[in-house]
Amino acid sequence: MGKLRFASLGSGSKGNATLVSDEETMVLVDCGFGLRETERRLARLGLHPRQLDAVLVTHEHGDHLRGVGPLARRYAVPVYITPGTWLSGRLGEVPCRHWITPQSRFAVKSLVIDPFTVPHDAREPVQFRFESHGRHLGVLTDLGQPTDHVVEAFSGCDALILECNHDRYMLEVGPYPPRLKRRVGGNWGHLANVQAAALLQRLGLDRLQRIVCSHLSEHNNCPELVLDTLTPLLDGDGSRLTIAAQDSGLDWQAIT
Ligand SMILES: [Zn+2]
Ligand SMILES: [Zn+2]
Repeated sequence: MGKLRFASLGSGSKGNATLVSDEETMVLVDCGFGLRETERRLARLGLHPRQLDAVLVTHEHGDHLRGVGPLARRYAVPVYITPGTWLSGRLGEVPCRHWITPQSRFAVKSLVIDPFTVPHDAREPVQFRFESHGRHLGVLTDLGQPTDHVVEAFSGCDALILECNHDRYMLEVGPYPPRLKRRVGGNWGHLANVQAAALLQRLGLDRLQRIVCSHLSEHNNCPELVLDTLTPLLDGDGSRLTIAAQDSGLDWQAIT
């Protein structure tokens, strides 16, 4: 029996990449780091790019797509992408491409994957829910607001990687120009800590073994604020909470 597990090569506006594996299969969700940096970060976890069975792309923003093309061309890793994301023209030619249709289940070897539409300012963004041997992992970043569709799609997971992008006050008084503040804080931008907390409550916390806070803004958030916002939901016991950092990422997390 393969066990579902996941790790982060790094998360934040400078680059995102998440590994999901179940012993038979290993996929990367997004690759926002350049080729050499991706190789270095994989090596940190004892991995080589040739071990990847696929790269799944959520959307075309550089912090998710930057390294996908170079990685796919260098190591012939199959790329799974929506037509809309592909039409951004930012991927370039790759040796092996598969279309993702939002709300349509697909599989990469033993991993069953459900892609779901999210509200974000990209052409056809999706986020993913993984299933293997009865365990479920949700990967949910880059969404402007928690919609009913998102709540329905990500309920009942055993582990969740969840965007906690900004603290609303820090964004308001922070260094971003007004237009960027409106974009980040708007309904098609990124999730604030309080929105992540509200979403978690709607999803239900009982089954969640692991909650990984990710995509934290370097300028408009800090880990302490994230933990202060989410820990009360867990009756003050933050042991299920972890943060995926921009530089160090996050080591393997097993779902039991
Ligand atoms: Zn984005
Ligand atoms: Zn992003």
